[in-house]
Amino acid sequence: MNLSLLNVIIPAIALICYLFLMLVFFYSKKNKIRKLYSVYLVFMSIWSLGSLFMRLNVSPGALFWNRVLCTGIIAIPILFYHFSLLYTESTKGYGLLKLGYLLSIVLFALNIQGYIVKTAYIWDKRLVYEMGAASPFLALWGVAYMFLAIFNIVYQIKIKKIFIDKVKFILFGMIFSLLGTLLNFQSNIGQYPVDIAVNTVNAILIAYSIYRYRFLGTRLIIRKTIQTLSSVIIQTALYFVIFYLIDKIIKDSYFYVAMISALIMSVINAVIAHYFREIIRYMIDSLFYKDRIDQRKALREFSENINSNLEIKDITSHLIKVIHDTIQSENIYIYLNLEDGENFTLVRHLEYLESFKEISMNKNNPIAKWFEYNNLLTIEEINDNSYFKGLWSMEKNMLNTMGADVLVPIKLRDSLIGIIIITEKVDGTKYQKDDMDILLTIANGTAAVIENARNYSKAKVQAITDGLTELYNHRHFYECLEDVIFNNRYEKFSVVMLDVDYFKFYNDLYGHSAGDKALKKIADILKLNIGSKGILARYGGEEFSLILPNLSAKETYEIIDKVRLDIQSSFNKTNEVNAFLTISAGISNYPENTTNKEILLEEADKAMYYAKRNGRNRCIIYDEKIEDRDVKKDGEDILFSSVYALAAAIDAKDHYTFGHSENVSKYGVMLGKAVGFNDEQLDIMRNAGLLHDVGKIGVPESILTKPGKLTAEEYETMKKHVELSVDIFKHIPNLIKVIPAVICHHERYDGKGYPRGIKGINIPIEGRCLTIVDSFDAMISRRPYKKPLSLEQATNELRANKGTQFDPMLTDIFIEVIEKNKSIFLKDVIIQ
Ligand code: GH3
Ligand code: MG
Ligand code: MG
Repeated sequence: MNLSLLNVIIPAIALICYLFLMLVFFYSKKNKIRKLYSVYLVFMSIWSLGSLFMRLNVSPGALFWNRVLCTGIIAIPILFYHFSLLYTESTKGYGLLKLGYLLSIVLFALNIQGYIVKTAYIWDKRLVYEMGAASPFLALWGVAYMFLAIFNIVYQIKIKKIFIDKVKFILFGMIFSLLGTLLNFQSNIGQYPVDIAVNTVNAILIAYSIYRYRFLGTRLIIRKTIQTLSSVIIQTALYFVIFYLIDKIIKDSYFYVAMISALIMSVINAVIAHYFREIIRYMIDSLFYKDRIDQRKALREFSENINSNLEIKDITSHLIKVIHDTIQSENIYIYLNLEDGENFTLVRHLEYLESFKEISMNKNNPIAKWFEYNNLLTIEEINDNSYFKGLWSMEKNMLNTMGADVLVPIKLRDSLIGIIIITEKVDGTKYQKDDMDILLTIANGTAAVIENARNYSKAKVQAITDGLTELYNHRHFYECLEDVIFNNRYEKFSVVMLDVDYFKFYNDLYGHSAGDKALKKIADILKLNIGSKGILARYGGEEFSLILPNLSAKETYEIIDKVRLDIQSSFNKTNEVNAFLTISAGISNYPENTTNKEILLEEADKAMYYAKRNGRNRCIIYDEKIEDRDVKKDGEDILFSSVYALAAAIDAKDHYTFGHSENVSKYGVMLGKAVGFNDEQLDIMRNAGLLHDVGKIGVPESILTKPGKLTAEEYETMKKHVELSVDIFKHIPNLIKVIPAVICHHERYDGKGYPRGIKGINIPIEGRCLTIVDSFDAMISRRPYKKPLSLEQATNELRANKGTQFDPMLTDIFIEVIEKNKSIFLKDVIIQ
């Protein structure tokens, strides 16, 4: 091949390449890297142009063009280095960069002065040149900065763990370019434009790195080029036609012809060229793109699809699709404030990016505030506008890393319900006003639909949730159970029924709102233990029900019994007197207990009631035998378990009277026997003894354990315990019988007692007995404000109050009992 032809062809091709790349840049969205790249392209063009004209020996001559060429050579290494810093987001190395730019200015000056290329001319179609004194300096400097650039990229790969993929083309291009430049200094090769050839390859490689995903844009670049070209051709043709016509009219002066033609042209340009351009654009668009037609279609489909849609998931995916189809954003993120909470959370995006999964935006951040008055926000505004200073750097970083370009609010009336974030266009071009109009239309059209869907999903959740505990409600529990049963969801699963023990009692003591709080607390403990292991519901008032999939009866028991213990200990921990709050649970398992799934719930219920009858605070797994056992055990058991639980509650409350209730019960029965009570009366004595002070559970601890004498007011409060006890018993059918005895245990024989002040034998005999044994036990016990009396002192005290406080006859009988059973009583006194 003719070498001299090659010398021309290579720079010419390079020049065309650069022009094309510049065009790509011109229509792209600008950023720092791309701007730098365009500067690089300019200098590469200068280099190529210089090289081409030098070899063509264009006037003013090879030397001039050689110096032009050198301007390019001087600029490239430092631009390379700058580029390497930006591309790898380096934080260091900017000092060297400044120095480099400074030196390049010096070199420019030296070049103009002729110190770099001394002579250059074409002789016998060959380039002959002589380098100047400063040329080694240029070579050294250029090679050094190219090395630095390469070194920086390699270094950044190491420390930042940048993917080699991201920089491999650039790295390769730079090494290639360095080699080419070095070869150029070899005079034999230097006469051929090797440097231009390698640098062209390099320019393309860099372009590929920057616009890697955006070469779809070539179609657009071609379209724009044709558009511009056709515009130029039409306008020129038009101008010539006008010129020709005017020339026909005014024959004399070219000057006037040109002037008038220009005038007419500018009028045409101002008035109708716009339409021309539109028509041309439309024609080219319909050739290249079906854009506009597609846009309308996409918008129509979108509104059809979302209008009757109530699922956020569907709506947002249609939203993403329509944005992608119409304005061609590369990635789209949709943030919504779904629960009127503090944050906007990312609900959907086009491309999956692991790192953005959890990131949300605070409702009060400047972006959200900005949208109160504005409808558009660009990343440049966020980065540069001081209004966004308050933005957390985390949020700013997030937006920058996700490549956010434009943010648009989803507003309903004045409230912001979401934010759409779009990144660059797929083809790398800038968003136009048209695009933003479409985006805003879409956002506005979606707001009401999202709001509807939000309300709908809220209502849906409310319909299946219990308001107090936020567990599922009874109805939803049934729906779930039916689903599990009829769709054969699991090979094995358990159904659990759970009921709070003595909850009515708790409510009576502390009030309904404390009861509600306790239910909530129990629900929380359940949630904590069960979590996503199963379905949790509030079955009724103080009853909970559960479905636990894939567990055996035993495994279920372990879980539920832990819940039971947690509830027990959590209510024990507090200083309040609610130690008795426990639960009873029944478990039934498929297929262990029954293969008939429909009776599972019934069986769990039976097991739960069995737990109740057997002392409460326990978990029972259903088994057929419990139904037989039920028949035999009845009344007595139930009564006793209730009585003991209540007595335990009192003991927990009043430590100083610990054992007091048991003693009173014991002495009461002894006295009853001596008086000749029948079995029923003795039962009353036993239970009344145990329970007579239950009402103290409602008396503040400060009064109960006060060391000194009570004030009149405190005494009144203390006195209330009698009625409180009675209130409690009213609700427990088996304890109603003890009420008469309990209500009278502070009445006096002379009528000066409380609460009713009744007198003599008007006081039921069990009550009179209870007063004596209760007072007696109080005498022999240690109290915060007194020492215990001896047995003899206590007996004397009884005698002394005979007829006033105590029934005289019963007092005598009791004193006899004491004397007969001295050993037992002495033991109690010593224990005190
Ligand atoms: P058992 O150990 O036999 O289950 O005794 P219990 O008192 O818990 O049982 P019962 O069924 O007699 O009483 C249930 C009580 O639960 C009745 C009601 O006062 C109370 N309760 C039901 N729903 C609520 C509620 O939402 N809030 C409050 N505070 N109490 C409730
Ligand atoms: Mg109940
Ligand atoms: Mg209950």
